[in-house]
Amino acid sequence: MRGLFQSQNKSKLSNFFKTLNRSIKLQNTNDHTYVKHNYVDIGAEEEVEDEIEGMVIDSNWQVGRRIVELGVLAEKMYCYVPTGKVGPTGSFDITAKIVIGMIHAGLGYAQIRNFLTECNLPVMSKSCFQKHEKKIGKIFVSAAEESCKNAQQLEKEISADKELELEVSFDAGWQKRGSGFNYNSLTGHASMIGKQTGKVTCYDIRSKSCKFCEHHEGKKETVPSHDCCRNWYGSSKSMEPDMAVSMAHKMNDNECAIDVIHADNDSTTMLKLKLDFENLKKKDDQNHTTKGITKSLIELSKRHKELKPGEVIPYLNRCFMYAITQNSSSELQIDDGLSRIVPHVFGDHELCGAVDWCTFKDDPISFKYKSLPNGKPLISEDLRRDLENLIEKYKSKASSLRNLGSTQANESFNHSVATKAPKSNE
Ligand SMILES: [Zn+2]
Ligand SMILES: [Zn+2]
Repeated sequence: MRGLFQSQNKSKLSNFFKTLNRSIKLQNTNDHTYVKHNYVDIGAEEEVEDEIEGMVIDSNWQVGRRIVELGVLAEKMYCYVPTGKVGPTGSFDITAKIVIGMIHAGLGYAQIRNFLTECNLPVMSKSCFQKHEKKIGKIFVSAAEESCKNAQQLEKEISADKELELEVSFDAGWQKRGSGFNYNSLTGHASMIGKQTGKVTCYDIRSKSCKFCEHHEGKKETVPSHDCCRNWYGSSKSMEPDMAVSMAHKMNDNECAIDVIHADNDSTTMLKLKLDFENLKKKDDQNHTTKGITKSLIELSKRHKELKPGEVIPYLNRCFMYAITQNSSSELQIDDGLSRIVPHVFGDHELCGAVDWCTFKDDPISFKYKSLPNGKPLISEDLRRDLENLIEKYKSKASSLRNLGSTQANESFNHSVATKAPKSNE
């Protein structure tokens, strides 16, 4: 066939399809009739028999299209045409694959049904779909558990080899977006990711709802025993500390105790963790620290109009982050770095001598601030007092600001989760 096309210079893909279409028109088969729909459910309910004897070949298969596995098709070509590989329970592999694909793409039965219908492919029944979903869900969970255990061991080994403490980053996500301080999502998930391996060493889920329970409760019936997914009755926000504690315990039980945790600046989580793990150290996350500083400065700008011009707050934020990240080797240095900020922005450069980012010492007369309005220092005494208080607040927790951690990996993981279970804003 190929040689024929090549000789006629028709080996291009478009030509190939043209030829293919033409031949179908000529043969005028009934395989792709779009008039008479008489779908048969190719789900788990129908089994393909291996023996030819006693097999009734249903002519329904001629209607509509099928996804077929070419290997299986070729192998059985001599007798009849099976539509795919069949698992030990008699269900088609393709059904399981569709369900896996659906979970992966974050779709539900209705979307899959619409998609397949538009492709003119028969759809499996909803019960068949749900059966597979349940079965595959369990396999997913056991694979995830296995993967976490391996990651824990690897993280422990690498940390021990490098004579480092075991560090993980922690962050939680909710299925529904929290608006400010209003969290009312029905489900929440969290992950712990090893610093050395970048692998998920632990995960947890909290769910406030179970469709099965709700169905029976709605009818005021006793709920039959089932594999219930409802495991949380508190508020959505309090899921986070609870998951952190149970995950820390889980890792501890697997002889993979955590020494240092990188987390956002949520104090409840840390307080709860400290109750059970006294020696656990906390490192702030760089992103959340920056956000925290900006938030405090915006709060101050409501009372101080000197902070209003667009460039002032980002400049102060840069000064803060510079003091914290450039001096991360010791708490004392962070302290010194933070002490320089307020005098510098108010025009007193006595402490700036030791650093090269302040150019005042090079040319005191024509010195101008690049990022302050008109290049002039700030002047309000009230603002100075408030900024000094803010600096004191950060100095007091200099220890957790050293070598800032990052929960970026967890945020990325939460993002992946959100693509499988799309967030809703309702
Ligand atoms: Zn339930
Ligand atoms: Zn200076």
